[in-house]
Amino acid sequence: MNRIFNFGAGPSTIPLEVLEEAERELIDYKGEGLSIMEASHRSKLYEDIHNEAISLIRELYRVPNDYDILFLQGGASLQFAMIPMNLSIGGVAEYIDSGSWSSKAIKEAKIQGIDYRVVASSKDTLYDRIPQNINFSDDADYAYITSNNTIYGTEYHEFPITKAPLIVDASSDIFSYPIDWSRVDMLFAGAQKNAGVSGVTIVIIKKELVARGGENVPTMLRYKTHADTNSLFNTPPTFGIYILNLILHWIKDSGGIEEIAKNNRKKAQLLYDAIDGSGGFYVGHAKRESRSLMNVSYNIKNSDGTNNSHLEDKFIKEAKAIGMIGLKGHRSIGGLRASIYNAMSLEAIEALINFMDKFQKENS
Ligand SMILES: *Cc1c(COP(=O)(O)O)cnc(C)c1O
Repeated sequence: MNRIFNFGAGPSTIPLEVLEEAERELIDYKGEGLSIMEASHRSKLYEDIHNEAISLIRELYRVPNDYDILFLQGGASLQFAMIPMNLSIGGVAEYIDSGSWSSKAIKEAKIQGIDYRVVASSKDTLYDRIPQNINFSDDADYAYITSNNTIYGTEYHEFPITKAPLIVDASSDIFSYPIDWSRVDMLFAGAQKNAGVSGVTIVIIKKELVARGGENVPTMLRYKTHADTNSLFNTPPTFGIYILNLILHWIKDSGGIEEIAKNNRKKAQLLYDAIDGSGGFYVGHAKRESRSLMNVSYNIKNSDGTNNSHLEDKFIKEAKAIGMIGLKGHRSIGGLRASIYNAMSLEAIEALINFMDKFQKENS
């Protein structure tokens, strides 16, 4: 077997144990003589998996009972539209603009024609930081943040305290650290970065917010439709939820989210130390206090501080030749990016650091 190190931002690395289990069960699920892909979503076989995934999320993420856990489709991107559709109740919606994904969410509020306000933005500095001293209005319909900015490599290390319900796009850092639910009213994520495969979107939402979505919201786009039917109103993305359930078991077997968080801090620290210790050859994009533990965006610099895109291209090419892919930065900022989600091993980080060291010696 020749498994490469995949530093891509998403879809991304899945734990090998999970892939192996899916492979073992693919054709004949638990001796039932069919694949889970072929099983009815109304069968007990499938419903057990569905309910187990929900209860594992509740257990591992310590989700209080007054929150619903929903499995939806349309990716995190559909949430950008569903949020204003369901949660805007005639007041103002407030957003923090910390990167392209926040901007896309703001655009959907605009399309809906609701009253919205951008309370803070780090656009002027190419989103190299999480805006500080955020002040949401107490009476806003909701307050919206992107907890981890996948492209720029910035992450909130503490959520703002709000009276208004706080909505968190955690698409690229879900399950990577424990959540203080006293501060969060809704958290959502497409599964394909840290929780499995594309096709399923996890929405964890306070029941009182679910109740806001009225009859004027199209049935499939109303949280209440899915909350009332345990996310079985229509056919859910069954295979994606099956993989999500395997990932949740993997998190549990790894010691839970606290243990995963500890590993994530260690992995990110090693990589940032390598960048900071390179004497200015590698320079991180994000301000130190805003650094993401999930996506490490950085550049190779010329001695005058400008980006050396020639060496960056060479780096990406040579890394690929030795089995490390996905290191090209997002097209909007260029440079390099290593996505080091939960499933990325310490061994992969060490291989990357060794390569970075060797590359620097050969090219400076
Ligand atoms: C990837 C990503 C999205 C978009 O997710 P889709 O499931 O492709 O719609 C939204 N927000 C963040 C923070 C992301 O990283």
